Amino acid sequence: MYVCSCCNSETDKLKLITCFSCKLTYNHTCVGISGADLRILSSKSNTGISWACGKCRDGSGDTLSELKMMVANLIQEVGELKKQLEVSKPTPIPPQNFEELIQEVEDY
Ligand SMILES: [Zn+2]
Ligand SMILES: [Zn+2]
Repeated sequence: MYVCSCCNSETDKLKLITCFSCKLTYNHTCVGISGADLRILSSKSNTGISWACGKCRDGSGDTLSELKMMVANLIQEVGELKKQLEVSKPTPIPPQNFEELIQEVEDY
């Protein structure tokens, strides 16, 4: 039998979720994870999603907000790269092309 690290009650192995950080096991209902989510997280095909308990998330920040921050940083980096490209390789669109484009749009 396994014991939930949250309520110390004996729990079926199938109802447990293991924190990837501290390796403690929790009853999925104690940490607010639905049975369906638990099946996804504990399935053999899941290789990329890991779950961290509340204590570990408090220590290292929420996984989701970390991801969001990573994405935000990436967007910023891409934006800066684009700016660098524009500075080093100025490719202004000739005005007549613009007018042709507008003409094409107006033809529709
Ligand atoms: Zn518990
Ligand atoms: Zn943990």
